[in-house]
Amino acid sequence: MIKDISNLQAKLQALVLSQQGLHAQGQVADYIPALAEICPKKIGVSIATIDGNTIGAGDYKIPFSIQSISKIFGLVMAMNRIGDDLWQRVNMEPSGQPFNSIIQLEWEKGIPRNPVINAGALLIADVLTSRFSSSKLAFLSFMRTLANDETIYIDKHVYESELNHGNRNAALAYLMKSFGNIEAEIPELLSHYFTQCSVAMNCEQLANSLLFLANKGVDPKTKKVICSARDAHRINAILSTSGMYDQSGEFAFSVGLPAKSGVGGGVIAIVPNYGVICSWSPPLNKFGNSVIGTNLVSNIAQELGLSIYH
Ligand code: GLU
Repeated sequence: MIKDISNLQAKLQALVLSQQGLHAQGQVADYIPALAEICPKKIGVSIATIDGNTIGAGDYKIPFSIQSISKIFGLVMAMNRIGDDLWQRVNMEPSGQPFNSIIQLEWEKGIPRNPVINAGALLIADVLTSRFSSSKLAFLSFMRTLANDETIYIDKHVYESELNHGNRNAALAYLMKSFGNIEAEIPELLSHYFTQCSVAMNCEQLANSLLFLANKGVDPKTKKVICSARDAHRINAILSTSGMYDQSGEFAFSVGLPAKSGVGGGVIAIVPNYGVICSWSPPLNKFGNSVIGTNLVSNIAQELGLSIYH
């Protein structure tokens, strides 16, 4: 494994160039109309290592909507707040269904398959809404602390757009409430969930903010414990089996890193004991994963020999 990434800059640039023109292979998410306004040609990538190096290429300093990648941070907050009780209310199995599927939730009596599909993330939003006096502020301040950057913001335009087109998420939340698995009022819970999805960050900020998952729960920059080593292990396990939607098996098969994507086109991959890769390109494949973002992570992992299964 290459430890010194300073000489990788040129390689990253070449990789980004090699992907230009491939954006037509995917489609920008339009079920949240604000996301469809983003230029499909943007491509960014960044690598941050636990020994304090960060490099990037392309549009790696342009903020984008983190969407489902926010599910990781919400999960950490909820695990820290209620501990193992969480696993009475949400499972840790792959779903084998689209990320916003309702049908499985009905069969399984309102217990989401895992915390990184929408039902699971809404359940987490319930925990945060019920246990923090101001969960949205707590979430934003957690992100700012992790990225060590007070400029991180909530994109109000994306938030409004999600709120106005959030019927499916509302349906998932109401269904879970009907099974007694939701405490908060649904509008409040949805407002939290759409807020966390609407956080805007760039590749560099995201890669840095997730270093604790590559470092047994400890932020390598500040030495602060963000979560226990056991919980870091658990989160990485969930990301390995479920983080890339219904393409998680193929991603594990071909790449072999815990990863999470979002419909804003971001992809993050955790390389334990090494660092984090974050890529961004808005057009998505049929599974909802960024076409180019997935290619970039996959190429970098291959080039550097990064896989948890070696
Ligand atoms: N806010 C999006 C939704 O709830 C997040 C989905 C995603 O990125 O997977 O539909």
